[in-house]
Amino acid sequence: STMPPLLSAIANAGRHGVLAKSAVAMERLGQVDIVALDKTGTLTEGTPRVRDVRPLPGAGLDERALLALAAAAEHPSEHPLARAVVDAARERGLALPEATGFASAPGRGVAATVDGRSVQVGSPARLLDACDADGSALRTVTALEAEGRTAVLVLLDGEPAGVLGIADRLRPDAAATVAALAELTGRSPVLLTGDNDRAARRLASEVEITDVRSGLLPQDKVAAVRSWEAEGHRVLVVGDGVNDAPALAAAHIGIALGRAGSDLALDTADAVVVRDELAAIPAVVNLSRTARRLVV
Ligand code: ADP
Ligand code: MG
Repeated sequence: STMPPLLSAIANAGRHGVLAKSAVAMERLGQVDIVALDKTGTLTEGTPRVRDVRPLPGAGLDERALLALAAAAEHPSEHPLARAVVDAARERGLALPEATGFASAPGRGVAATVDGRSVQVGSPARLLDACDADGSALRTVTALEAEGRTAVLVLLDGEPAGVLGIADRLRPDAAATVAALAELTGRSPVLLTGDNDRAARRLASEVEITDVRSGLLPQDKVAAVRSWEAEGHRVLVVGDGVNDAPALAAAHIGIALGRAGSDLALDTADAVVVRDELAAIPAVVNLSRTARRLVV
């Protein structure tokens, strides 16, 4: 064909289900030497489910009341953990009380007012400090994380009211994709996640990732990318969430996962995986390298 190599590569990438937004993006894909993968919604399917509902003594809530309260606060959030909580409440046929004053903090969780009381739902590491006077919240969190769960804490008027244990499944092509990317770049991909270290390492070991950076806020993901770039590396970030958008923007090239991805991640990324196949990523890195050899 007479089409310039990078344009044919864009067309070929499209056949793999990857939308490259520009010729520059297509060209940069082949230059990367570090791949950083987000966990929830990227390495995993992004449809986590609530496995455990653990009310804490003191708040006086039973399982159903705890779940209804958490779901009411999570209802406006598009985070996969929020959807898990709302779905769990629906499956149990719970009526959600009305929530007002919703606020969300990326990488931390959500807050709202429910029936006149303040409800916070989110990361135990971020929410649990002085408020856990008798240590029962921390014990419950630690026990759930040891089982590979993402523990989500519920605070009622600033006091621990319960903990939810949430777990997700690896994407079926996660291990093969990690291996292919390691082969292409000569370095095993790095896992960047806001989740707890225990759950992150457990999942990483299943796909043979050893470099795990956990407990990260969105700006920490950016800092990791910037420090690699400052060392002369070219970083590919793959993510799905609102919380990944700053790192997608900071990277040499950012790829968002399209089906589950947030609008902000899709807008920020240089390329979008339209079908839900991680394995398309090493395939398009290869396409880019081939095209660049043809550009003279
Ligand atoms: P990841 O980097 O794995 O995609 P996030 O950065 O989105 O994870 O979230 C990091 C942590 O923040 C979660 O493990 C959870 O503890 C907490 N969190 C963030 N958003 C929410 C939410 N809507 N509901 C509950 N917890 C949340
Ligand atoms: Mg994510």
